[in-house]
Amino acid sequence: LFIAFEGGDGAGKSTQAALLAKTLSHAGHTVLRTREPGGTPVGEKLRSLVLDHGQGEIDARTEALIFAAARAAHAAQVIIPAVARGEIVLSDRYADSSIAYQGSGRGLGTAAIKDLNDWATGGLWPDLTVLLDVSPTAGRERRTAGDATEDRMESEPDHFHAAIRTAFLDLAAASPERYVVLPAGGSVDELAASVARHVQDLLHK
Ligand code: C5P
Repeated sequence: LFIAFEGGDGAGKSTQAALLAKTLSHAGHTVLRTREPGGTPVGEKLRSLVLDHGQGEIDARTEALIFAAARAAHAAQVIIPAVARGEIVLSDRYADSSIAYQGSGRGLGTAAIKDLNDWATGGLWPDLTVLLDVSPTAGRERRTAGDATEDRMESEPDHFHAAIRTAFLDLAAASPERYVVLPAGGSVDELAASVARHVQDLLHK
């Protein structure tokens, strides 16, 4: 089973992925937690390549291809083998992040980025995508509360993050069978319980 967590910066994806991993492990499942962009040695290098460069140093198409390359490695070397071993894979971001950030945020077109990633991953899409929906303001508040340094994307203005949010909601509306949308505000524990309920439903299908 392959589950992806998506949402804007500061939505709480890592926290919720960690809590779900704990719940599933306690229930006897073997869980693999991974993240994008990264998850493999090559992917981690690509991650720092794309995130550490200053504004304007990487053009949008290069950025999209680097993310797609990192994801190709992630799918082939990490996710597909783990799913084949019967593990539950929880990924902090996956291809829908590229559709939202590069397709919509950077204006490359969501259809083109979807096709690029479909090719890069050999057509691997999550069984379930948990979208933690956060407003640009709330996301910014959470990011700066934890850690004052923002990466290249995080420091983008609110209208960029608003476009990302809309893109994620559009993706969810287009594929309701694989998406669950949960408001990221409110209590961490209540959100975790709600995520766990949706995953339990899927496991018992
Ligand atoms: O979620 P995480 O902090 O690991 O993501 C790192 C950064 O990469 C985020 O700022 C996110 O906005 C950005 N990103 C992106 N395009 C993707 C995936 C992530 O711009 N396809």
